[in-house]
Amino acid sequence: MASGCAPPKLQEYILTEKLGSGSYATVYKAYRKVNSREVVAIKCVSKKSLNKASVENLLTEIEILKAVKHPHIVQLKDFQWDGENIYLIMEYCAGGDLSHFIRSRRVLPERVVCRFLQQLASALQYLHQRHISHLDLKPQNVLLSSQSTPHLKLADFGFAQHMSPWDEKRVLRGSPLYMAPEMVCRQQYDARVDLWSVGVILYEALFGRPPFVSKSFVELEGKIRSSKAVELPAGSRVSPECRDLLLRLLERDPEQRIIFEEFFTHPFVDLDHMPDAGSLDKATALVTDAVQKDTQGDFASALSLYCRSLEYFVPALHYESDCRRKSAIRSKVTQYISRAEELKALVAKGNKADFEQAKSKRGLLREMSRDKPQLLAALEMASAAVTQEAGGDDSVETLHLYQQSLGELLPMLAAEPQGRRRVLLHAEIKSLMSRAEYLKEQLKMRENQKEATSVDQDPFSESIKSNCSLQ
Ligand code: ADP
Ligand code: MG
Repeated sequence: MASGCAPPKLQEYILTEKLGSGSYATVYKAYRKVNSREVVAIKCVSKKSLNKASVENLLTEIEILKAVKHPHIVQLKDFQWDGENIYLIMEYCAGGDLSHFIRSRRVLPERVVCRFLQQLASALQYLHQRHISHLDLKPQNVLLSSQSTPHLKLADFGFAQHMSPWDEKRVLRGSPLYMAPEMVCRQQYDARVDLWSVGVILYEALFGRPPFVSKSFVELEGKIRSSKAVELPAGSRVSPECRDLLLRLLERDPEQRIIFEEFFTHPFVDLDHMPDAGSLDKATALVTDAVQKDTQGDFASALSLYCRSLEYFVPALHYESDCRRKSAIRSKVTQYISRAEELKALVAKGNKADFEQAKSKRGLLREMSRDKPQLLAALEMASAAVTQEAGGDDSVETLHLYQQSLGELLPMLAAEPQGRRRVLLHAEIKSLMSRAEYLKEQLKMRENQKEATSVDQDPFSESIKSNCSLQ
C-alpha cells in the first residue's frame, strides 16, 4: 500500500485495497462482513482536515447527501465516525476515475465526450435544483461505474463548502488547474465555478490536457491571472457546437460565463435528448402525432414529426439494455425511417413547385435591390442556396449558405424602410428560414438514421452486445 499504513478498522466492514486518495481523504475498497458481502468504497476523512464548520454541522450535511439519489451520482449509503475520522460508505465504482480513463486513451472521441458530458450535466442539474454546488469538479472526482459499460458517477461533493481551498497559512490546497480563476485570484466565488471546471474537464477529455497545463507554478499562475481569452489548441478539430460550449464555459469572468440553464439546453449538451428512461415515451408521443398527420395527408408536418421522433428513438435505443426490447424498437424505427423517406420524396416534389412559384418574386426583389449592392449580394447568396437545394443538394454546405445569407439579410430587414421592398424581403426571409429549418431536420435525420443502425458499436453498450451474443 502506497501510504504504508494499514487501513482503519470498522465493525461491519473488511477494508481491503486502497482505491485512491485526494487532498482530504483516503478511499478503500471494502466488503460488508454480514449479508451478501456487498462491495463498497469507504472514504475516510480525517477530522483534522475539517476547518471552521463543526463536525456536527458536517454530519447534518451528510444526512442531506444521503438523500441525494441519481443514476450519475455516487450513492452515499451510510456514514460512521470515531475519534479520528468520518467514514463515508459509498457505492463502489469499478471503472476507476475519469482522469485515469482519459490518460489511458490519451484523448476521447467527441461522441464519447458528448455522452459523458450529458451524464455529468444531468447530475449537475439534479444538484443545481437542490442548491448543492460541487466546488471541486475535476476528472479525479468523476468516477466510472464499470470498465465495460462506463457510466459517469459524480463523486466527492458537498464537502467542499466546509473546506476552503485555502488553508490557515493561505496556501492553496488542491489543484488550481481545474479551479475557476475567481477562486484562485479573488478567493470569492459561488456555484458558477462548477461551470468553469466542467469546461476544463471537457477540454482535457478532448485534447488530453487541461487548458492551463504548465511546466512550473509561476507559469501556471501567469496563465490563471492573465486576462487573455482561453483558446483551443491550434489545429483542434471539434464541432462548432462543442467549440462554442467550451469557450463559453471557459470564460474567465463569471458574469460573462454561460449560466446553468443555458448549459443544460446548449446544443452540445441537449439534456432533453439524453438517453434516459423517458426517451422512449417522448419518441412514441411524437410518432403518434406523425402517423396522425400522415393519415390526414399533411405530409410536410408528418415528415417533420417523424424526424423529431427519431431524435428520441436513437437515445431510447442507447438506453435500452434488454436485447429483445432493443430489437423491437429498432424494427419500428426502421419502418418509420422508410416512411419518412417516402414522405421526403413527396415533400421534395412540393418544394420544387414552391421554388418555381417563388422564382418570379425572388427575381423582382433582386431587381428592386440594384441600388444596394450589399443587399443584392446577400440575396444572390440566398438564391444560390435555393438553386443548390432545388437541384437536390441537401448537404450541410447548402444549409450553411442559407444560414450565412440569413445572417446578413436579417439586420438589413431591420433597417429597411416601410414599402414594397420590405414586404418582399420579409417574405423571402421567412421562406429562407423555413428552408434552413427543413434542411437542418433532414441532416439531423440522416445522422440519426446512421446512428440507429450502429447503436451496438457504441462504446457504452459493449457489454450489452456481448450479453446478446451469448444468448
Ligand atoms: P478526496 O476528497 O480526498 O479527493 P475522493 O472522494 O475524490 O477523495 O476519492 C479519491 C479517489 O479515490 C478518487 O479519485 C477515486 O480514484 C477513488 N474513489 C473514490 N470514491 C470511489 C468509489 N466510490 N469507488 C471507487 N473508487 C473511488
Ligand atoms: Mg477527490
